[in-house]
Amino acid sequence: MSTTPKNSDVEARPPAPPAHRPATEQIHAGTDQQLPAHPVRQPLYASAAYQFDSLAQARETFAQRQPGFTYSRTGNPTVALLERRIAALEGGVGAVATSSGQAAITLVVLALAGRSGQSPDGEPHPEVSAGHVVASNRIYGGTADLLNDTLAEAGITVTWVNPHNPAEWEAAVTDRTRLFLVESVGNPHGDLADIPALADLANRYGVVLAVDNTLATPYLVQPGSLGAHLVVHSATKYLLGNGSCLAGAIIATGQFKPSQNPTRWPQLTVPRKRFGDQSLVSGFGDDGALLHLIRAQLLNDTGPTLSSYNAQNILDGLETLDIRVQRHCATAEELARRLTAHPAVSCVRHPSLPDSPDHRIATRDYPRGTGGVLSFEIDSDLHGVEQFFDALSLFKIAANLGDARSMAVHPASTTHCRLTPALIQAGEITEQTVRLAVGREDVEDLWADLNTALHCVLSNQTAGQTQKVNVS
Ligand SMILES: *Cc1c(COP(=O)(O)O)cnc(C)c1O
Repeated sequence: MSTTPKNSDVEARPPAPPAHRPATEQIHAGTDQQLPAHPVRQPLYASAAYQFDSLAQARETFAQRQPGFTYSRTGNPTVALLERRIAALEGGVGAVATSSGQAAITLVVLALAGRSGQSPDGEPHPEVSAGHVVASNRIYGGTADLLNDTLAEAGITVTWVNPHNPAEWEAAVTDRTRLFLVESVGNPHGDLADIPALADLANRYGVVLAVDNTLATPYLVQPGSLGAHLVVHSATKYLLGNGSCLAGAIIATGQFKPSQNPTRWPQLTVPRKRFGDQSLVSGFGDDGALLHLIRAQLLNDTGPTLSSYNAQNILDGLETLDIRVQRHCATAEELARRLTAHPAVSCVRHPSLPDSPDHRIATRDYPRGTGGVLSFEIDSDLHGVEQFFDALSLFKIAANLGDARSMAVHPASTTHCRLTPALIQAGEITEQTVRLAVGREDVEDLWADLNTALHCVLSNQTAGQTQKVNVS
C-alpha cells in the first residue's frame, strides 16, 4: 500500500508540458476537458467549501492521502486553472496563486529563509536563527519594505546588492543564505538582471534564485529557461492588463532539486509530523515539494488566498497577453526615443535605448522587447517636477502598471517613499525621477500629453530666468 500523500486541493495531474506556442497556451493551457455540460470556458467556481460523499472520504482528503479540494483557502478549481495556465506560460512545473504579488514574495521568503528552513528537523526552533536573503538594490519599493521591516522582524536578514554586478551577489553569500531575489526587468528604471549569471552563482552556493517577472511577463522572458528556480508575479499588472484587481503567483520552474542537497533544505527533505511523517520531497518529488510547503502550510496558515472571481479576471486577461505586451513595448520604445531628444529631459532609462547599460542583455534575452515601464529625469527643480505632473491630463498620477491606462508616478514621493537612504541612492531615485507605465492608448496622444507637460516646465524655467534678469 502506498502511503505517499497526494496533493490535496490541487488536481492530481501535473500540468502537461506546453503543447502549443504561447499565443495558444495563453488561451487554452490547463483547460479541463471533462466538465459536465462541456462549457467552452471553464465556469467560475464561487464556492468556499467542497462536499464529501462520506466521512472516510473527507478524512482521506484532509489528510492529503487522496486528491481533492477541501476548502478554498488552499485550492479552488478556477484558481487551479489559473495556476496551470501561468505555469504553462512560464514553462514551469506548477504554480500557487496568491491574493497579491506581495503575498507571493512573502510566502517564497518564508518557505526558503524562515526558521524551519534552518532547522535540522525541518520544524521551527526559536533558538535557531532564520535565513538570509540577497536581493537587488534596485527593486520594487514594496519588496524592499517587506524585507527591511516585516520579514526583518521575523528574523530574516537581507543584504542589498547591485543587480548588474554578480560579484556583489557572490560576496554577500553567507552560510545562512538561501534565497537570491531579483526582478527580470527592474522597477522603476527597467534594469535587466543577468539571470544566467545569477543562476550559476545560486547553483554554486546552494541558493534558490527567485525572479520577479512582473514587468517582463513570460511573453518577453521565461526566467526558468535562463536557469531561475522560481518565478514570482504581481498578476495585478500585465497578466491581468486592466487594473481591476490584485493577484499574485509563484511558479516552480523545475530547476530546483532539493533532494540533491538534503541537509540544506530540511523543511523539504526531513519527515515532518505535519505532513504525515513523510518528507515533502518523498511525497511530491523535487518539483512539487516546495510548492506543497507553500500551499499546504504557508497559504493555509496565513490565508492570502486568491479569490476565484479575481482568478477568472486574470484568466480573461491572459487570453490577450501577447498582443497587449507588444503594444506596451512598441509605445514605450517610441516614447523613450522621443523623450531622449526633449530639452526638458536630462536622462531616459529604457533597455531598448542603444546607450542603455542593459542593451547587451536586452539583445541576448529579450528578442520581443523589454516592456512598458520607463523612467526619465526632468531637468528642473522639484517645483518644475510638480508642474510637470500637474499639467498631465491623459497620463494619470497613479501607482500601477500594466493597465490599459497610462500612468506617471514620482517614485520618491510614492512607490519608493519608504526606502532607506542607501536604497534610494543605489536605486538612483531622485526628486527629478519620473516613472511612466505606458498604457495602450495611441502613441501620438500620449506624446502630446507628455510634450505639453514638459513644455510647461520649460516655459516656467524661461519665465524664471527672465524674472531674475529683470531683478538684477
Ligand atoms: C506591484 C508589484 C509587486 C507587488 O504586487 P501587488 O500585486 O501589488 O501586491 C511586486 N513586484 C513588482 C515588480 C511589482 O510591480
